[in-house]
Amino acid sequence: MTVLTGRTALVTGASRGIGRAIAERLAADGALVAVHYGSNETAARATVAAIEQAGGQAFAVRADLAETAELAALFAGLRDGLAGRPLDILVNNAAVIDYTGTIEGATPEAFDRLFAVNVRAPLFIVQRALQLMPDGSRIVNVSSGVTWFATPDVVYGMSKGALNVLTRSLAHTQGKRGITVNTVSPGITETDMNTWLAESPEAARGVANMVALGRHGQPADIADAVAFFASDDGRWVTGQTLEVNGGLWLG
Ligand code: NDP
Repeated sequence: MTVLTGRTALVTGASRGIGRAIAERLAADGALVAVHYGSNETAARATVAAIEQAGGQAFAVRADLAETAELAALFAGLRDGLAGRPLDILVNNAAVIDYTGTIEGATPEAFDRLFAVNVRAPLFIVQRALQLMPDGSRIVNVSSGVTWFATPDVVYGMSKGALNVLTRSLAHTQGKRGITVNTVSPGITETDMNTWLAESPEAARGVANMVALGRHGQPADIADAVAFFASDDGRWVTGQTLEVNGGLWLG
């Protein structure tokens, strides 16, 4: 018996990176996990296989979050996998970054695509998920430190700022149902989104020098914080943002 035994979870963008680590952690804690992915079926299957090998339970569900129409398929797959069980934990983790989204390089088309995945999809996933979620459920949104430090990638930063607003509003409106809604805000973490960390030891050293704990993050560092909010231990925390970054730019 572990802390999430008998619970269920949907983790978006769980095929790779931080989402995969979150899915593995929630499954290790006992939850049946829906491993969502966009296009990389091989990676999603690998996540499910890793969970099962470790003795956990998971199934994969696909949907391109840039397309609102695909949310119906996501929830059809989710309902199939849950087989009549409610959804206890939703983690909105999937996102894209577009390094051309600077003030000079931004285009309306690229802006719309990024906001579709990073902002529109989480909102409408929550709207549907709430119908499956019992009182006392958990929602965790994965945002970014770029909401409090400036980077040139203004479009991405704006999208994460919007996600933070979603957390606070939802925490306010869903509190009467005992549903907690929080944000986990990773610092610089080694994933496919940050391939330069693995490719350039010099860049990695530069990041380490900005972090009090002296290194960049690993996906499991973020997953463990999500697990707190998902667990009973997080029951009295809602509407909050936890910066999970090893002490980035403390001074
Ligand atoms: P990765 O690029 O490693 O993984 C992205 C995940 O999102 C994949 O599972 C991918 O699915 C899915 N995804 C991307 N686009 C779509 C789409 N259109 N439709 C459906 N799924 C999609 O990202 P990270 O693990 O690095 O990031 C996870 C979260 O953490 C994001 O919200 C990110 O903004 C945030 N974050 C990351 C930081 C970092 O340093 N890495 C720092 C701060 C925040 P598929 O495999 O099918 O492509």
